[in-house]
Amino acid sequence: MVYLDNNATTPVDPAAVEKMAQFLKEHFGNPSSLYPIGRQVKEMITESRKTVAKAMGASRTEIIFTGSGTEADNFAIRGVLDSAPEKNEFITSAIEHPAVIQTANFLEKKGIKVTYVPVDKYGTVDLQFLKDAITPQTALISIMLANNEIGTIQPVEEISHIAKEKGILVHTDAVQAFGKMAVDVNKLGVDLLSISAHKIHGPKGVGALFIRKGTNLWPLIYGGHQEREMRAGTENTAGIIGLGEAVRVIKERGDKDKKRIEKLAEILKKGIEDTIPKVKFNGHEKNRIKGTLNFAFLGLEAEAILLALATKEIYVSTGSACSEGAEDVSHVLDAIGLKPEVARSCIRLSLGRFNTEDDIDLVLKELPEIVGKLREISALDIDEED
Ligand code: PLP
Repeated sequence: MVYLDNNATTPVDPAAVEKMAQFLKEHFGNPSSLYPIGRQVKEMITESRKTVAKAMGASRTEIIFTGSGTEADNFAIRGVLDSAPEKNEFITSAIEHPAVIQTANFLEKKGIKVTYVPVDKYGTVDLQFLKDAITPQTALISIMLANNEIGTIQPVEEISHIAKEKGILVHTDAVQAFGKMAVDVNKLGVDLLSISAHKIHGPKGVGALFIRKGTNLWPLIYGGHQEREMRAGTENTAGIIGLGEAVRVIKERGDKDKKRIEKLAEILKKGIEDTIPKVKFNGHEKNRIKGTLNFAFLGLEAEAILLALATKEIYVSTGSACSEGAEDVSHVLDAIGLKPEVARSCIRLSLGRFNTEDDIDLVLKELPEIVGKLREISALDIDEED
């Protein structure tokens, strides 16, 4: 199998599997219990919290574990807007993950004014538009650090700078950035930052929200006293241990993975561009998570390519896994200006820690053949100018 859909999810690192299995065998205590088997689990959660915090330059008390990246995004956005009823405006971008876009849509129904900042053809937000959208009523700006479909990295540092001058809080969805590029909450200047374990070779169903000390926001989930009373519910203990271990492995490996993934992605990108006619690369050439490659194969339906590749056990995506099937055309590809028929021909190949040169060789052998054959039988016109 060649797995090139690491932006959808990643295989769990063996070290995290081992750590979680051992934990589940040996520890069942409730971290809120005061006797030793509970305290031990609480201490292990604290270790994970420290590891996650350190990896982004935060302090331990600024990390709240959540049930997913989606929950972290909801918590940040709704938490701030709920806690500041005197401010009723929210700014985000047109290319956010549904976890942010749908939350924004919900807020609009509640009477919040939402501005969706447009992006250029590379997927970078229009900073002037963002600046002009700010009013004294703006409570929060939420702009993702890296896009899940095309990988483009946003100027979050600059956005924080603009926001700080006006006393506006900044959230960034760093789900696709954390573990793939340097992420430091102080350098970025953000008040809130979301991550998700399953995008970084950790388990599914666990994420975390960084909340800068002193930031005012309300909880999303009410109940017990867990997570400093900011996220009630008995903790996903094994998940949190797995997230901590996944982050520890990232730190241990340094930039080894990043360098290797970037090299493999470069070979794959060049190979596709050199061997397949009428392809169009989407995203920023430089300012991008390099392991994310998104191509339009003009004249074809992406699904046909995806399914043909799947018969060879090569797994890719037609866009965001979460939005697949739900939208006719990806809102991200629409926002960068692709015509619907071009957007419908786009395939995302996203690399991860476990990809090898053999994987890339196989794709470069199979993909040109598949595209060639599909084009022979395709009725769609190919227009390179699109
Ligand atoms: N934000 C981005 C940018 C994502 O890519 C994803 C997952 O695809 C999420 C948020 C949601 O994370 P989770 O799957 O943990 O809910």
